[in-house]
Amino acid sequence: MTGPTAGFLPGADRARPPAAGDLALPVTGSKLLTSVDGRPLRVADLPADTDWVPLGTLDGVPAWATDLTTADAIPGRARGWASLAADVPEPHATLAGRALAVVTWRRTHRWCGACRAELADLPGETARRCPDCGLYVPMQLSAAILVAITRPGPGGRADELLLVRHATGPTGLWALVAGFVEAGETLEAAVHREVGEEVGLSVERLAYFGSQPWAISGPGVLLAGFTARAADPQAEPVVDGRELTQAQWFGVDALPAQLPPAYSISRWLVDATVTAARR
Ligand SMILES: [Zn+2]
Repeated sequence: MTGPTAGFLPGADRARPPAAGDLALPVTGSKLLTSVDGRPLRVADLPADTDWVPLGTLDGVPAWATDLTTADAIPGRARGWASLAADVPEPHATLAGRALAVVTWRRTHRWCGACRAELADLPGETARRCPDCGLYVPMQLSAAILVAITRPGPGGRADELLLVRHATGPTGLWALVAGFVEAGETLEAAVHREVGEEVGLSVERLAYFGSQPWAISGPGVLLAGFTARAADPQAEPVVDGRELTQAQWFGVDALPAQLPPAYSISRWLVDATVTAARR
């Protein structure tokens, strides 16, 4: 399919009510409910009195989320985002991530943070407003950066890529230096700061690679990926021992097996680095 309706387009349009054939993304706890064989459910698969929240469209078909307190009555399979993203095309994974983000945001932003009144939905927006004091409460994104740092290999050998292991989460994985952007900071400044804090290195030739909405480290996370060169090719990484347990240079022709999953921008950056080094 081509044209403006191809792929996933986020939206918050309630003007047209959900139709039986629209996509349904029920969220139960922190998981998504799919059909038993893993395909998305349809609106007709759930009870008629379901409270639907608009998510946008996938290939032109409207998609809706709902917050299920119990999934017992609906035949299906509850899956975490990582398991789903590993299985479905990228636009489906993005839609599933938005369902989790929107439902979680609605659960945690029910009351006005200024005056405690109950917030009201704003038609056509993923936002709420306080009826008493007027506070506007949009669903906010958290920006995070990640960076693939390379240096020339010793004696003219292939480039080396810096990989790190984290103290929490999947600790066996060799990942990239990453971290959240602080308020008042540019994406680029966040890269320089995180690299300095996490591995004690300086980088140069910072270049933007791409971005990915990410539903694992919390709702509403947007990852921005960069490539960079080590400013001093002789410098060795020093880990803080708190966030990271290990940091190591690997030849791009001898990377470890425990790399980030294929659906992640971390992995796209690693693969692009390998491809670039072979040219
Ligand atoms: Zn208020």
